[in-house]
Amino acid sequence: MSEIIRMLPAVALRATTILPGMIVHFDLSREKSIKAVEEAMRQDQRIFLVTQRDENVEVPALEDVYEVGTIAVIKQLVKLPKGFVRLMVEGLMRGKLLSFEPREDMLEAELLECETPDLDSFTETSKEALMRNLKEEFAAYCQQSQKISRDLMVQILELDDLEKLTDRIAVNIPVTWKQRQQILNGILLSERYEELCVVLASEIEVMKIHADIQARVKEKIDKNQREYVLKEKIRLIHEELGDTNVESDIDLFKSQVEELEASEEIKDKLRNEIKRLEAVINNPSESGVIRGYIETCLSMPWDHMSEDNQDLKSARKILEEDHYGLEKVKERILEYLAVRILTKKGDAPILCLVGPPGTGKTSIAKSVARALDKAYVRISLGGVRDEAEIRGHRKTYVAAMPGRIVQGLRQAKVKNPLMLLDELDKMSSDYRGETASAMLEVLDSEQNCRFVDHYIEMPIDLSEVLFIATANDAQNIPGPLRDRVEMIEISSYTENEKSHIAREHLVPKQMKINGLLRSQLKISAKAIDEIISGYTWEAGVRSLERQIGRICRKAALRIQEEHADRVSVTARNLQDFLGRKKYLPKPVNTKPEIGVVRGLAWTSVGGETLQIEVNIMPGKGEFRLTGQLGDVMKESAQAGISYIRSIADRYEIPQEFFGENDIHIHIPEGAVPKDGPSAGITMATAMLSAITRIPVRSDIAMTGEITLRGRVLPIGGLKEKMLAAKKAGVATVIVPKQNEPDAAEMEQEIKEGLEIVFAERMEEVLQHALVSEKDAD
Ligand code: ADP
Repeated sequence: MSEIIRMLPAVALRATTILPGMIVHFDLSREKSIKAVEEAMRQDQRIFLVTQRDENVEVPALEDVYEVGTIAVIKQLVKLPKGFVRLMVEGLMRGKLLSFEPREDMLEAELLECETPDLDSFTETSKEALMRNLKEEFAAYCQQSQKISRDLMVQILELDDLEKLTDRIAVNIPVTWKQRQQILNGILLSERYEELCVVLASEIEVMKIHADIQARVKEKIDKNQREYVLKEKIRLIHEELGDTNVESDIDLFKSQVEELEASEEIKDKLRNEIKRLEAVINNPSESGVIRGYIETCLSMPWDHMSEDNQDLKSARKILEEDHYGLEKVKERILEYLAVRILTKKGDAPILCLVGPPGTGKTSIAKSVARALDKAYVRISLGGVRDEAEIRGHRKTYVAAMPGRIVQGLRQAKVKNPLMLLDELDKMSSDYRGETASAMLEVLDSEQNCRFVDHYIEMPIDLSEVLFIATANDAQNIPGPLRDRVEMIEISSYTENEKSHIAREHLVPKQMKINGLLRSQLKISAKAIDEIISGYTWEAGVRSLERQIGRICRKAALRIQEEHADRVSVTARNLQDFLGRKKYLPKPVNTKPEIGVVRGLAWTSVGGETLQIEVNIMPGKGEFRLTGQLGDVMKESAQAGISYIRSIADRYEIPQEFFGENDIHIHIPEGAVPKDGPSAGITMATAMLSAITRIPVRSDIAMTGEITLRGRVLPIGGLKEKMLAAKKAGVATVIVPKQNEPDAAEMEQEIKEGLEIVFAERMEEVLQHALVSEKDAD
């Protein structure tokens, strides 16, 4: 192989390498380069292009340029303004730079023209193998990069000369000038080939990674894009349906949660629920449930509190203002409040106001709330049978709701309201039971700071709530609850108390409700007494208030219709307002009767008199009880009969009598449940009278339990019973000796005109009740 050394004008290129076979444009600005071009144009237009190792060198020396460059022919030369020159050249072959001529004006290179020296060293087979390999790589590259047109690719792949193939590929693939210089450096075809394969392989690898990243980025973008498009569609659908607040609702919920006065635990749960809501917004039934839940939770007071008025003086004033009498009750409530303020917490037992209907239990609780500046909510427990009514249903139930306690809190809007648990004794348990235990959890200060409602599913703090309960009959409050509460008894009102309450409270209240001025209606004291005795029959004042309300409405009508200035209601014209009297004094037995005794009973709605009748008839010594009789009452009757048998001698009753006769006890007025034990002495007296045929005084009434040995045991509800006796026109009442202190405490008004006999033993009862021979005469 011949080696030709020649001299050529040279240009040092910056950041560009030109390979043989490439036709390229580039601009020149350096004076030396332009001179070299001009020199080349003067000769055979050939020029040596060699690349600078460092593009920043201004005047490159031999060591500043690569060793291998390209001999090119200038195809075109255009002079540009400002001394620039644009060239179009075609690379012809490699040239190995030997030296630069020492010239000041331009670069002139001494170089060796490089034909490919190792061309003959390849066998045909190896050429074929190398070509195949290269074509495969190239095809893979084209597929990845998409930068080579299909036509060009086909053209190149059709070449069947290894050198041409190598050079064409090298020229056509877009690589950096440094990679291209590496290829140019390969004067040997084997070097060139190898370098090209490395470049292709690394390019393919880079492109694969790139494609992979691209795909991942695209996937992510696609997902976001998809979500966005879908959400937008949903929004449009809702807009179309006129339901524009979907998104804004969620935003609103989010901001409400952040503003909520609640612990992070609660807020976190709500945040999660809002996320769930967003996820199912398209499913109306599911989103409805979650939305309802979130709304309920947001409407709970959680940590929101109101400030209590701790001024007990004003509390006392308010209690006095709102209610007549009830001194003990008010005092007890004030004590309770004082302790509560001192201990800062409601660890004290829950107050439970026990008394007949209409005696002001609810209204006292309301007054307490007013006195303390507390929100007031009433939770009616009457008829609550199912635990779920207190604790709520789980969300999964159709139409699930929180329980009454939570509803009460929502209504109160603060976590420290006064919550009135009305009719604690009317709560019952069905077969699932648990109502009482749920209630116990509400009232227990150990547990109620984390009360669980099945619907809310988050612990609710009830420890700041002031609970006050009411009941008509303490006996009916479920046992464990009874232990938790402190009873305050409110007893029936006397006629005098009723009259005061009516005049001082009910009349002004009803006049105000019905829009009457003070001057427009006058109800005389006598008229009020008439209303109490003739139109109402109750322990409290509820129906009295209703009757007064009726009068007020009638008066309002008169003022409007007849232009009356003032309406005056007296005992005489009362009928015009209320119609005929409903209750007339009960006819008292005027004559002593055999086997009939008047008893006194206490019921949850007040006192009652009840007439016990006994009949004796021939039979086999059987014992029958009819009317409203509880088991306890039957046992009392049995005790009575045993006692009578034990004293049979004294009354000359033959022992066979009890085997040959049946005894039938009946209680005619049995509509209201009676407290059993207190009728013991009454039944015994009636039986003895029937057996001995000695009549019983008609103006007497009695109450007391009896033992087998004839002792008289104490009873409850004495005040109610005495009031009932008085109302029934009874002259003498027989009560157990042990109840004497109760009677001493009672208002004089009740005792007036009543003879009270305190009996310790049955003999004393009989002595007073049975008409003696002497009396009968
Ligand atoms: P309860 O809850 O015991 O059934 P309420 O509290 O509903 O009774 O009382 C019925 C009505 O009687 C209410 O209007 C109440 O203000 C009035 N009332 C009851 N007792 C008194 C009282 N001592 N003084 C003034 N008003 C009373």
